Amino acid sequence: MRLVLVGPPGAGKGTQAQFIAAQFAIPKISTGDIFRANVSQGTELGVTAKKYMEAGDLVPDEVTNAMVRERLKEDDAVDGFLLDGFPRNQPQAETLNEILDEFGHQLDVVLELVVDDEEVIRRLSGRRTCHTCGHIWHVDFDPPNHPGICDHCGGELFQRDDDRPETVRHRIDVYAEQTAPLIAYYAEAGILVGIDATGPVDDVTERAIAALHPYG
Ligand code: ADP
Ligand code: ADP
Repeated sequence: MRLVLVGPPGAGKGTQAQFIAAQFAIPKISTGDIFRANVSQGTELGVTAKKYMEAGDLVPDEVTNAMVRERLKEDDAVDGFLLDGFPRNQPQAETLNEILDEFGHQLDVVLELVVDDEEVIRRLSGRRTCHTCGHIWHVDFDPPNHPGICDHCGGELFQRDDDRPETVRHRIDVYAEQTAPLIAYYAEAGILVGIDATGPVDDVTERAIAALHPYG
């Protein structure tokens, strides 16, 4: 399955991506995770991306597209993938089509996680991520057994710099302006499936897997 997850920041893309990728045995490719790994390793790519990420802006397309192109060439992505956080605007969507064309492939489905802005703000303000394994928690909605410590690996949890309230507001605006138009674009292409992404994480996972079943 060649799948794109789309939805506003905080919709639960990363959370659901973990389960969906495991269920359909495809690699999860999260551009946000790749950028954050580069930032923490201090690579050239990370140095470039950092200032955009801190401001809640999109990293320039030429940087992002080149990175995704390289990643999709890797062996594990040849038979399918889940893209989380890419494409985020029309030029990126066109680049994705070009990359897939080069391989003689096409996208099977775009899954939209539908959540309103107020829920997004509640989710982002309590998001915590494990430094060691990357698992995503929430201080109220999905808390670990011991505050600040990952249940899965014992790693330390951190709050993302870009989850500060001022930056969150801007990211929601960037989503509305640049990313939301892709929903109509993929609907027109006949490959959009939307699910209600509110309610418990497990319920959303069930809805996602049921919606994707015809493509898997
Ligand atoms: P969220 O999960 O909250 O939507 P991400 O982890 O996907 O956030 O992205 C964090 C930041 O990384 C974005 O605000 C942006 O600066 C950068 N980023 C991630 N994916 C892309 C992309 N496809 N194009 C440009 N910038 C991106
Ligand atoms: P995205 O990748 O779309 O930015 P995340 O998967 O990182 O979103 O989720 C944002 C926050 O919301 C995290 O703290 C996560 O634990 C929490 N979250 C995810 N799904 C749900 C849900 N169904 N109900 C409540 N909180 C959720």
